Amino acid sequence: MTPSHPSTSIAVFTSDLRLRDNPVLHAALRSADQVVPLFIVDRRVAGAGFAVPNRVAFLRDCLADLDAGLRERGGRLVVRTGDAVEEIRRVAEQVGAGEVHIAGGVSAFAGRREAGLRAALGAALRVHGTVLTAVEPGVVTPSGASGKDHFAVFTPYFRAWQGVELRRPLAAPRGVRVPSGVRSEPVAAVSSLTSGGLSPGLPEGGERAARRRLDAWLRSGLAAYADRQDDLAGDATSRLSPYLHFGCLSPVELVHRARKSGGPGADAFVRQLAWRDFHHQVLAARPDASRTDYRPRGDRWRSDADAVAAIAAWKAGRTGYPLVDAGMRQLAAEGWMHNRARLLVASFLTKTLYVDWRVGARHFLDLLVDGDVANNQLNWQWVAGTGTDTRPNRVLNPLAQARRFDPDGAYVRRWLPELADVPGRRVHTPWALPDVSYPPPIVDLAEAAARFRRARHPA
Ligand code: FAD
Repeated sequence: MTPSHPSTSIAVFTSDLRLRDNPVLHAALRSADQVVPLFIVDRRVAGAGFAVPNRVAFLRDCLADLDAGLRERGGRLVVRTGDAVEEIRRVAEQVGAGEVHIAGGVSAFAGRREAGLRAALGAALRVHGTVLTAVEPGVVTPSGASGKDHFAVFTPYFRAWQGVELRRPLAAPRGVRVPSGVRSEPVAAVSSLTSGGLSPGLPEGGERAARRRLDAWLRSGLAAYADRQDDLAGDATSRLSPYLHFGCLSPVELVHRARKSGGPGADAFVRQLAWRDFHHQVLAARPDASRTDYRPRGDRWRSDADAVAAIAAWKAGRTGYPLVDAGMRQLAAEGWMHNRARLLVASFLTKTLYVDWRVGARHFLDLLVDGDVANNQLNWQWVAGTGTDTRPNRVLNPLAQARRFDPDGAYVRRWLPELADVPGRRVHTPWALPDVSYPPPIVDLAEAAARFRRARHPA
């Protein structure tokens, strides 16, 4: 009797760079004797402006860590450069793959990739949900006669989201058998996607780093989260966003573990994870919302020479408003910014300076290590009032935000060395200090607020 040929499947890694609770890898391993764990370095991602130095450096860590984890289990990661559809089809043909497993994505790019794979592979393609989000887009929809395919308001979405029973997390595989003879490029091939300087304070990528941070967070951050999440100087949020963006952690597992801890901190944290799912389900239903206004307000954004100069000052963290500037300097230094600062600097650009949200979203995507089409574009739209905010014309005042969220000025002093010696809350108004040299405010807040009101409510 001749031994039968081992069956082979492919697990395509995208934004799910983990071994634990990975339905794609799990299903691929169950469906065949051998599996090709495959990552495609797709140059079109670079062409679309998404491969930027900070995220590519983090991605390289993630791939190296994934490869190491697979090797510990007897396998390895196969890396190929090229068009994702073409390369996956080629590997599938070479190994005679019966099935190709991949996570369902929500961006227009992921949609095109999935359509291309379906055309190339037909029934062999298996697309998995609850990999990138805890609740799959489309699983909860507004009921009744509205006929809507997604929720446009967070609160009712969250109510429905909480009622969904999540699947149980999956264990990491014990062993992974990869067929021999499948060519791979080194993980470092991903670095060819881009070049340029990195933010000096980037976190380390990968599932192991993610789990270290998660364990520390559950042990000593989560319980106080509800009280401290807006404390800018306290820096008391999880900083798990880059790991969620690259899928080093599973959102399903995160919700389970937070709920197990219980308490107001866990409730508040789970609510933020639901915000992430919320934006994903909006983008899944309206992929064009990454570029066009979700709710057009008839804005005629400023783009004259004054606006160009103001944008440059905003990017450089030299608007003259220390809390805005501190946020922008944190972004440059760490490739990350506290959520409360993101809200303020985005409101400042879109409402106080009345500049198109796309300008700010692009700048964030150029630097953020967690930069994400769904979360970034839709949060920008939320702040600009063209998105899902039910109070689209609210304007955040930097001085009022400073009083509430950086009352002693410690956050500003941390990020603005020119003001490091100014004690207390006086640091928020350097124009009132005779012996301090700091750029004067680029805009008068009252005039700016009036300009915005006129723009949104023309007489
Ligand atoms: P935590 O407070 O610990 O929250 C836990 C997790 O919940 C986060 O890691 C994140 O995955 C999710 N989350 C929290 N707040 C939000 C939110 N408002 N929307 C969606 N998910 C949320 N988040 C990104 O992941 N990528 C982005 O590109 C991004 N761009 C943003 C742009 C603007 C203008 C604004 C206002 C917010 C943006 N956010 C983005 C959301 C939020 O600021 C970050 O997720 C958060 O600051 C990350 O820090 P953390 O992990 O410590 O969050």
